Amino acid sequence: MTEPAVLVENIRKRYKDTVAVDDVSFRVDPGEVLGVLGVNGAGKSTTIELVAGLRAPDSGSVRVLGLDPRKDRKAVRQLLGVQLQEAQLHDALTVSELVDMYRSFYSDPRSADEVIEMVELGGKRDTRFESLSGGQQQRLSIALALVGRPRVVILDELTTGLDPRARRRIWAAIEALTEESVILVSHAMDEVQRLCDRVVLLDAGRIVAEGTPADVVSQAGAANLEEAFVAITGHDLDADEDEEDVA
Ligand code: ADP
Repeated sequence: MTEPAVLVENIRKRYKDTVAVDDVSFRVDPGEVLGVLGVNGAGKSTTIELVAGLRAPDSGSVRVLGLDPRKDRKAVRQLLGVQLQEAQLHDALTVSELVDMYRSFYSDPRSADEVIEMVELGGKRDTRFESLSGGQQQRLSIALALVGRPRVVILDELTTGLDPRARRRIWAAIEALTEESVILVSHAMDEVQRLCDRVVLLDAGRIVAEGTPADVVSQAGAANLEEAFVAITGHDLDADEDEEDVA
């Protein structure tokens, strides 16, 4: 059997009174794109922070290419690329400067030209981060996640808030990643349908459905992924779990 790119077993994470992640297990095979879906508050961000080693689980285990992202932090950093929501980048630095800075973190980085071309920012090399459009900033944050030639890539809310053209460009960039294993956090079902080989659907910190997008649709007896999501979780796609609990 091939070694999974990511193996998550029975992870739990509690913040004071909130159980954010409650006994979650999944794997991502090499080359696979796994979608992690759920409404706001479902536990998606906490789950990927645990995978990236940014937080420690209360119990359970995480392995990235067989390594523990907390104990083998240095090795995992070379293998994992993470694009987090609202990346805090240095506003005054240009595209080229940011790419060069990120390249310096890795032992065998992609060339600056390669990453800039991957996300079609060739015309923006000398533009400061703060002067890029939202879509361009988003594309740059993806480029920076890919700079270190990661074998595993984590992408959070890839195209939220972008116009259709920018979304299609980003999707094309992700589709071009055939070797890499990807975890894609999203609540855009068109994006998930297009990019993901398999999905796990989280609700209140637990996995409530998993499989290929087609499996999940048929398990729910739904017509499409969006309907399946609503049928399985009882939430609208843009609902907020914390607020619903109070209602
Ligand atoms: P999602 O990414 O799906 O929106 P999160 O993982 O951010 O979900 O949150 C899961 C639950 O944990 C929510 O109820 C959220 O309010 C809570 N939570 C997340 N981060 C923290 C934190 N740092 N402190 C306390 N509660 C948190």
